[in-house]
Amino acid sequence: MKKTGIYIHIPFCRSKCAYCDFYSLPATKYSSETVEEYVHALERQITCFIQNRAEKITVDSIYFGGGTPSLLSGCQFDMVLSLLNKSFDITRDAEITAESNPCTLSKQKLSEMKAAGLNRLSLGVQSFSDTELETIGRLHSAAQATEAFYLARECGFDNIGLDLILGLPGQTKESFFDSLEKSVSLHPEHLSVYGLSLEEDTPLYRNRDFYTFPGEEVCAGMFSDAVSRLAENGYQRYEISNFAMDGYRCRHNLHYWHGDEYLGFGVAASSYFNGVRSTARKDLRAFLKCRSSGDFDAFSVVEEVIGPEEKAREYIMLSLRLTEGLSVSKLKELTPDSGFYLGKCDNYLKSGLMRKENDRLFFTERGFEVSNSILSEILY
Ligand code: SF4
Repeated sequence: MKKTGIYIHIPFCRSKCAYCDFYSLPATKYSSETVEEYVHALERQITCFIQNRAEKITVDSIYFGGGTPSLLSGCQFDMVLSLLNKSFDITRDAEITAESNPCTLSKQKLSEMKAAGLNRLSLGVQSFSDTELETIGRLHSAAQATEAFYLARECGFDNIGLDLILGLPGQTKESFFDSLEKSVSLHPEHLSVYGLSLEEDTPLYRNRDFYTFPGEEVCAGMFSDAVSRLAENGYQRYEISNFAMDGYRCRHNLHYWHGDEYLGFGVAASSYFNGVRSTARKDLRAFLKCRSSGDFDAFSVVEEVIGPEEKAREYIMLSLRLTEGLSVSKLKELTPDSGFYLGKCDNYLKSGLMRKENDRLFFTERGFEVSNSILSEILY
């Protein structure tokens, strides 16, 4: 049975981090009334979407991303989740995640989130060095992140993911491994280690000359050592940047990487549904206005109708991010030109950057390190 993921975008933050180019607004640009209005607009959008749909869509993951979803009150989470429960066929074991910033979490907030139905937290720790956290404009300290983690455990969250960033300004091998060790010592079920992406139009990019960043080779070395360290501690790498204990891979993100359909609600949210990819505009005011008009379709920009060839190319790109790799027979089903792509993989198989086992083709550890350039060679 086809199962879909739902993404809900919450575009509010306490303040803007120096490296962030996500669509999110700092506290100076909205009020608590705006947040309440936004939640009502989300409810209207969900209601409009399910109107006239004969059958309920089966959903096995719900993901509140942002922005800082943990700024919502327990009651606001409850409003959205209750409506989703009425509107969709939510599986009993659905994974229901909220991205959370440690500076927004209290014991009461976490209890309310748990009571509302959330069963997974993605905690944006980024680093356990206070100096690094301050440099990138995070509002929490390392101690607050640790405290938030323990509070979440106390409140019954038994599925917690921590995010770390590699390549931060001023980061050294020692400080990165200290952050990694501290993360591991908390025993989260999931860990993500993302390389810093310096995006134009962010304060960090504009001020880049004032900082010292660890070089590319140093970062590659640190990442490779981190993979080994995490493996020793029971974290299996299942995607380029993601590691999980057995049974705790992020189901929601797997929907994206498997090329499954997903529905996005809220400002700036993307959907891939019935073969069409669309993304909502990054315009909070316009979104709030749709609450009275109900015209959320006009708010979304249709980006692409995904034809078979595009679907096959996406499948190659996304599935090879995963350690489980791509299924050759699935690729053959998707495109009559599979031989073209598979032929290009031959060289990488010979050089040991890729491996084939039965029906599956995947990168080796060495291949992952240069996966971007291999993918662009295969696809373009
Ligand atoms: S908390 Fe997250 S979404 Fe908000 S500004 Fe920082 S990085 Fe961006």
